[in-house]
Amino acid sequence: MVEMKWENKGHEFDALRVRLKNIDTKYYIWGAGTFGIAFFEEFCEEIPIVAFVDRNKEKWGRKLCGLKILSPEEFLQGRKDEIVIVSTGMTKSAYDQLRQMGLVRHKDFFHIDEISSIYMLDKYNKVYVSDLMLSITQCCTLRCEYCNAFMPQISNPVNYDMKFIQDEIDLYFRWVDEVNILGLVGGDAMAHPRFNELLSWIGEKYYPHKVKHLEIYSNAVIEPGKETLKMFERYDVFYRFTDYSGNSGRQNIEKITMILDEHHIRYDHAKFEDWFDSGYPQLSNGITSEDGLKKFFELCDRKSCHGLWGNKLLFCGMCLNADLIDYCKLKETDYFDLGNYDASKRIELLEYYLGYNERGYMEYCKMCNGGINVNTHKIEVGKQMKI
Ligand code: SF4
Ligand code: SF4
Repeated sequence: MVEMKWENKGHEFDALRVRLKNIDTKYYIWGAGTFGIAFFEEFCEEIPIVAFVDRNKEKWGRKLCGLKILSPEEFLQGRKDEIVIVSTGMTKSAYDQLRQMGLVRHKDFFHIDEISSIYMLDKYNKVYVSDLMLSITQCCTLRCEYCNAFMPQISNPVNYDMKFIQDEIDLYFRWVDEVNILGLVGGDAMAHPRFNELLSWIGEKYYPHKVKHLEIYSNAVIEPGKETLKMFERYDVFYRFTDYSGNSGRQNIEKITMILDEHHIRYDHAKFEDWFDSGYPQLSNGITSEDGLKKFFELCDRKSCHGLWGNKLLFCGMCLNADLIDYCKLKETDYFDLGNYDASKRIELLEYYLGYNERGYMEYCKMCNGGINVNTHKIEVGKQMKI
């Protein structure tokens, strides 16, 4: 196990930095899917990528982006000391398999975000990070019983003040040079009454030089109006929603997807067989030892839901919401304080973004059942609470 507890703050990726600078280092991408393709498209001119590797035998022998897709066995036979870049969403099972094959995390294999961020820092002196999921409202048009953002548990939900949101974004971009995805979330992001104004402010000030991709997380209840659609087009916004139609009865999926299609707005209509219960209101997930918590944190895949609240940057945004409803109060060790900008701490910020922190886990990891790759508590998708 690799501990994400800081042991050598500011130097956790020194060995990787040496290898990335070595022009003889070669790379495999583990996972021939959308993340792997996106990584290839962005970095194929920067680093020598040998092939893709995938566990799905249907893909073996095929070509992707001009490279061969290998089976894990084929990869192992031909491997020398190349770096493996794990690009699948299901990191736990990928890490387990790579370890069974004798490879070591942070020596032989790295998460895609680790390679991207450290490479960009060394090559372009840029703090480049994968994502920020910025909550702009506690209001939501649905009341999902197992909402991971705990929205139904907030008795007096508010829309965050524009100035507060603008200040926190400005502060964030003092530290961060470029974020791949800035997602506006809620509740339902589109429930914010000044949603258009905020989107326009972000678009004009930060897109695309600091925000590469803008995404909206909605629930397909509120139809985007003319002004909103104009901005979706102008900033190439990606609209994401989950299909709860079996349970909510309030979604306008057909109408909204038709409008989005007419305006050529890209969207993801996610359908899940199950959701996972984060554990609320349990006070413990049963993991009590420090080692157990560190291991759980390392395996939990919340790498694409970094949160921000004022000057507090969180590795896992769920902790923020747990704090907001007084379910689990944040500890100082849980967040990275963006309050006083210090250029000498840029690498520490990147390390935090990539999972390193003072204890190797967050306070809320003691209570929560974890992200989907470690969570075994399946539940119905979008089950609504009675009003
Ligand atoms: S749609 Fe459901 S899961 Fe999403 S924020 Fe609202 S209550 Fe939570
Ligand atoms: S265990 Fe829970 S609190 Fe900890 S990182 Fe995973 S989702 Fe976040």
